[in-house]
Amino acid sequence: MAIMNGTRPMLRYVFMVFILLVAYHYIPSSLQDQYNAYTNSDEELRTELDSDPSNTTQGLANATFVMLVRNSDLDGTISSVRALEDRFNSKFGYPYVFLNNEPFTDEFKRRVSVLIRSEVEFGLIQQEHWSQPDWIDEEKAEKARKKMVALNIKYGGSVAYRNMCRFNSGFFYRHDLLQKYKWYWRVEPNVKFYCDINQDPFRYMEENNKIYGFTITVYEISATVRSLWPTVTDFIEMHPEYIADDNAMEFISDNNGKSYNRCHFWSNFEIADMDFWRGEAYTAFFEHLDSKGGFYYERWGDAPVHSIAASLFLKRDQLHFFEEIGYQHDDWGHCPLSDGIWEKGRCSCSQKGSFDYDPSSCMPHWEKLMSI
Ligand code: GDP
Ligand code: MN
Repeated sequence: MAIMNGTRPMLRYVFMVFILLVAYHYIPSSLQDQYNAYTNSDEELRTELDSDPSNTTQGLANATFVMLVRNSDLDGTISSVRALEDRFNSKFGYPYVFLNNEPFTDEFKRRVSVLIRSEVEFGLIQQEHWSQPDWIDEEKAEKARKKMVALNIKYGGSVAYRNMCRFNSGFFYRHDLLQKYKWYWRVEPNVKFYCDINQDPFRYMEENNKIYGFTITVYEISATVRSLWPTVTDFIEMHPEYIADDNAMEFISDNNGKSYNRCHFWSNFEIADMDFWRGEAYTAFFEHLDSKGGFYYERWGDAPVHSIAASLFLKRDQLHFFEEIGYQHDDWGHCPLSDGIWEKGRCSCSQKGSFDYDPSSCMPHWEKLMSI
């Protein structure tokens, strides 16, 4: 019995040591596996992309973010990039192109690059793409600016703002750093992204034959586009071949093209195909508009210019409303109104505050067009 009694604690001891040894080996290796799985998936994605950049069925689209910013926009740029990385890009790894009409400072490049794991490039805009052409009658342009200042129109007196609108209308997609890309997502400083973006918007565009994507629609200020529509109708008469069947004319005109209702997609957010801007129809359209001088004699914005072109030269089903992208620019934001989308995106915005059905929103025109 004495032997038996002595053996039991011994066996228990051996058993305990055995369990501890198993646990000791098992726990760290399972944690290690998890760690490997995490880093591997990241590496796998990279390897997949690196090995075949044209592989659009598995990897990323041929796409980039584009931010046109000043050195003084550093804080706002950091805030936008941080939000975009948190809500979307840390999972995907799309590159960024930052553009400026002045050289970026080292401080700007350093503080922005540190936030981004994917490729980042900083580019300078060539002077011809960012200046009032010398054939513009400066006296006439100055008169127009003064008149707009007197009318208290936002940016009415600014030549820099006009250069920006003209650049965004007709030049950004010609910048050297953007040549290798087809798709872009335009991002501005100080914007907010409210929801997780789990599905890749670029791939969505690609797979669904979309060309131009937006989140917010608004009315343009009349005084900035007085002669824009007559200039557009001249172009339509000269080039009826560019007008698409089943276009979105109804979104921009309430009387089948007689006048412009001032609706446009708010271009501070755009996900679109640069090959559309680079194509024959838009190239001719931009040249026609530019030759009339309205970027300087008035204050034509890139938003109405892009929107009118997209509405006329594309089929309406090539336009896409990104309902799931909760987004804020200045005072106006879009928050997904569908509860399912809002919950799935873990959105931090209030649906009640969404701009969609504000009196200044053109969403009712969009919904009528799309028969929603
Ligand atoms: P708003 O959205 O129409 O009120 O105009 P913003 O002031 O936001 O300008 C639109 C975009 O152009 C933003 O991304 C700005 O950072 C950028 N931007 C405006 N003016 C300039 C400028 O003079 N230089 C540079 N580099 N970017 C500018
Ligand atoms: Mn802005």
